[in-house]
Amino acid sequence: MDKVVFLDRDGTISRDSPDHIKSWDELHFLPNTEQGIKLLNDNGFNIIIITNQSVIARGMVTKEGLDFIHQKMIEELEEYGCKIHKIYYCPHHPDDGCNCRKPNPGLLLKAAQENDIDTSQCYMVGDRMMDVEAGKVVKCKTILIPSELGLQELKNSMIKPDYIAKDLLDAGKWIVKNYSKY
Ligand SMILES: [Zn+2]
Repeated sequence: MDKVVFLDRDGTISRDSPDHIKSWDELHFLPNTEQGIKLLNDNGFNIIIITNQSVIARGMVTKEGLDFIHQKMIEELEEYGCKIHKIYYCPHHPDDGCNCRKPNPGLLLKAAQENDIDTSQCYMVGDRMMDVEAGKVVKCKTILIPSELGLQELKNSMIKPDYIAKDLLDAGKWIVKNYSKY
């Protein structure tokens, strides 16, 4: 599979919450999310979501509960003509020391292996530097749509994303333009 854009979920597609997203009615799309994904789809890009969901390890949401949220999210996006190829999530706690919680690249590597993807030709989009860092490990081009936390992290980081976008539509436009240069 080529032309792949990896998207973070909380803070990138939908609004993040310090209390975590525990149910479908707590998940709200950020402005221009549908437009951004649609633009990418229309230009032949496949969307794969890569998300840390420690709510599982924290016992706040069951796996079935998370699957339900994701199913509803995919259905809602389909109504706007958006297609999500697949969602990969890390269920672990930050203290678990797993290899799949971003900034570790485990989920990106798994997605790459399962879908035959050359990640050096892909893009990783997120609101936090952990998204950028995970993307850099597997040589993706990286885009930050900085949340408040993400902006602080950016200021303190030696690593810089390839582009800083104001929302997912802005990110989508940059990707379409950037990719056409190859
Ligand atoms: Zn994990």
